[in-house]
Amino acid sequence: MNPEVLLSRIRVVLCRPSHPGNIGAAARAMKTMGLSRLYMVAPKQFPDPEADTRATGAVDLLAQATVTNTLKEALAGTSFAVALSARQRDLGPELGAPRETVARLLAEAEDGEVALVFGNETVGLSNEEILNCQAAVTIPTNPDFSSLNLGAAVQVLCYECRMTAFAAKPPVIAPGVTPFASPAATHDEVEGLYGHLEAVMTHTGFFNPEQPGRLLPKLRRLFGRIRLERDEVNILRGILASTQVRTGHGRKP
Ligand code: SAH
Repeated sequence: MNPEVLLSRIRVVLCRPSHPGNIGAAARAMKTMGLSRLYMVAPKQFPDPEADTRATGAVDLLAQATVTNTLKEALAGTSFAVALSARQRDLGPELGAPRETVARLLAEAEDGEVALVFGNETVGLSNEEILNCQAAVTIPTNPDFSSLNLGAAVQVLCYECRMTAFAAKPPVIAPGVTPFASPAATHDEVEGLYGHLEAVMTHTGFFNPEQPGRLLPKLRRLFGRIRLERDEVNILRGILASTQVRTGHGRKP
């Protein structure tokens, strides 16, 4: 696929950014590398003149940016999302290196929309936000000083995307893709599976919402490790629905 088209399928999602200057810097970083789809989840201050100033010639990206209340909304319609984190989390996907993960991101972009997800300047990404992503990346740094400025982190990843998209060799094929495979499930389809699973587990008594423990994050981690296909989500939901029929439990959408 044309590298420019491939880059246009990558959403850069900034979760709860506090500083408008960093939003502008991220837009500039994206445009220099040929990315254009900026998303913001609950930005503290946007639009803002400071964002425009730092974006310089990339104010068009700010004007076209999408602002949402939740990460789920920003990821709707995507089939692969990569979390950017300076630290390994208890329950997130294993941290990979930028180059290898970007190769996979671009392979997925051949089939549809994908996302790079960045955290807040002070607290980074929450565990819940990370569990909405299927892969995680850390930018290798000085171990004693590992936190990059948000705009700088966006720049590094966008650069890697451009280098890989324009490399002469074709992007690697996403693991698990066979000629018989169905398209990757989208974020909203996988969320539908989680909701269905939770409803059935609550009904059977396997899951107690009063004492949730770590069951739901662990299941998200399990399914997040694999690239679920649409057919597979439908099979799993069909199994759940069949248990609901037997137990007379109203089906949750
Ligand atoms: N203090 C925060 C870091 C915030 S920096 C923390 O400890 O998590 C803002 C965002 O930039 C991070 O959430 C992450 O998305 C990205 N970032 C900064 N440094 C990074 C690194 N070394 N590797 C990957 N992402 C990084």
